[in-house]
Amino acid sequence: MRLILVGPPGAGKGTQAAALVQRLNVPHLSTGDMLRAAVAQGTELGKKADEFMKAGGLVTDDLVIPIVVERIRESDCAAGFLLDGFPRTRPQAEALDRAMQAAGVSLDAVVVIEVPDELIVERITGRRMDPETGAIYHLKFNPPPEEIAGRLQHRQDDTEEACRARLQKYHSETAPIIPYYDQQGLLRRIDGVGDPQRIAENLFAALGLDA
Ligand code: ADP
Ligand code: ADP
Repeated sequence: MRLILVGPPGAGKGTQAAALVQRLNVPHLSTGDMLRAAVAQGTELGKKADEFMKAGGLVTDDLVIPIVVERIRESDCAAGFLLDGFPRTRPQAEALDRAMQAAGVSLDAVVVIEVPDELIVERITGRRMDPETGAIYHLKFNPPPEEIAGRLQHRQDDTEEACRARLQKYHSETAPIIPYYDQQGLLRRIDGVGDPQRIAENLFAALGLDA
């Protein structure tokens, strides 16, 4: 299956992606994770992306598109993939279409996880990541076990200020790709509020998968 997960920051894309890739056995392609790895490694891409990310802006299309176009050509993506956080702009969506067309493949579905703006800041500021396992926690909604609390990371852009900037970008740049996919009959809307397990069940059902 070739899938895209769309949603505002903190919608639960990473959380749901973990369940989905396990179920589907396809690679999880998170452009946020790829860009953070480039920043941590100090690559040319990382140096260019860092400022945009810290401020809660979008990294420019010319930097992000090639990462994904090259990644989906790799052999582990032949049977499918789950894109998380890409595309985030209309030009990214069009570039992905061209790349898939050239490869003779097509998307199966685009899942939008919907969460109202007023819930987003609390989700983002309480998010913590485990750098060893990649697991995503929340201080209130999904508290980490005590023994790993010391090693958890708080993302630099998970501040209230950067979160509000990201939310604004989501509405101005990313939300317009939703009608683009709706017109193609690919869109599945999922309510992202409530128990993550229940959300996963709804998501599987929307994709025609058994839980
Ligand atoms: P979130 O969990 O808030 O949805 P991500 O981890 O997906 O955030 O992305 C973190 C940051 O990385 C974004 O705020 C943006 O600066 C950058 N980024 C990730 N994916 C893209 C993309 N497709 N286009 C532009 N910038 C991106
Ligand atoms: P995204 O990748 O869309 O930015 P995450 O999956 O990282 O979102 O989730 C953002 C934060 O919200 C994390 O701290 C996560 O533990 C928490 N979270 C995820 N799903 C839910 C949910 N259904 N209800 C409450 N909190 C959630």
